[in-house]
Amino acid sequence: MLVTGASRGIGRAIATAFAEGGDRVAIHHRDSAQLAEELRDSLPGDGHTVVRADLADPDDVRAMVDGAAERLGGLDVLVNNAGVYTPHPITDTSYEQWQHEWRRTLDTNLLGPANACWCAVRHMRERGGGRIINVSSRGAFRGEPGQPAYGASKAGLNAMGQSLAVALGPYGIAVATVAPGYVATDMTNDHLKSARGDEIRAQSPFNRVARPEEIAAAVHWLASPAAEWASGTVIDLNGASYLRT
Ligand code: NAD
Repeated sequence: MLVTGASRGIGRAIATAFAEGGDRVAIHHRDSAQLAEELRDSLPGDGHTVVRADLADPDDVRAMVDGAAERLGGLDVLVNNAGVYTPHPITDTSYEQWQHEWRRTLDTNLLGPANACWCAVRHMRERGGGRIINVSSRGAFRGEPGQPAYGASKAGLNAMGQSLAVALGPYGIAVATVAPGYVATDMTNDHLKSARGDEIRAQSPFNRVARPEEIAAAVHWLASPAAEWASGTVIDLNGASYLRT
């Protein structure tokens, strides 16, 4: 299995869950070779490998997928986890910065996974099936002033997953999406430490945000044989946030 953005955060927890379940893992990183190699060496089991790519570069993506398949002896599972988020509120962002944020966000969060799917499907068809799991976000469903491109990229991921689930079912490839609410990682660290952090935690009746391992457990289940029927779904993992009237 290949998981993108696996050197830290949710991706790291996903790599760990699959290795603990007996899978061999291709750990993708962009510029964190040392962290990725340390993770590879610490995971249970043998045969894990490290692959590098800038997901905004289609050639890099192809080399990443083909390299992972070659070293693992085929590819059964792709988890499109890596993503970027930088606040870009329309009222406070220059036109040049606006262009930059939209391009970077869509290239990384939407076109990167789309290209990885294209490449992975070739390998999955060779082995007669597979699983693709995309990591979307609450941002696909809910508005925040700072995340128009981010929300659009994640809503696009949801739509892509549904379309690919229909296209790839006949080939034994199931495609599903998880859409976490706030998770305690480097991406949200500053936000959760700010005054808004208490409000975010209070949105859930558990008065906390998710742990990366809780998202990883759902992703791991989606790759299991029993979860083929979850193909085409978007699982909203929010700890009952946003339900109060
Ligand atoms: P993170 O910042 O710790 O991890 C993101 C990873 O993506 C990093 O390893 C980073 O190097 C990689 N990445 C970013 N741009 C890249 C590029 N161009 N090429 C290759 N790799 C790149 O954050 P995280 O919270 O672990 O996020 C993982 C995924 O979960 C993301 O898709 C994010 O949008 C999503 N998500 C996170 C939260 C949250 O609250 N943390 C909530 C919902 C969804």
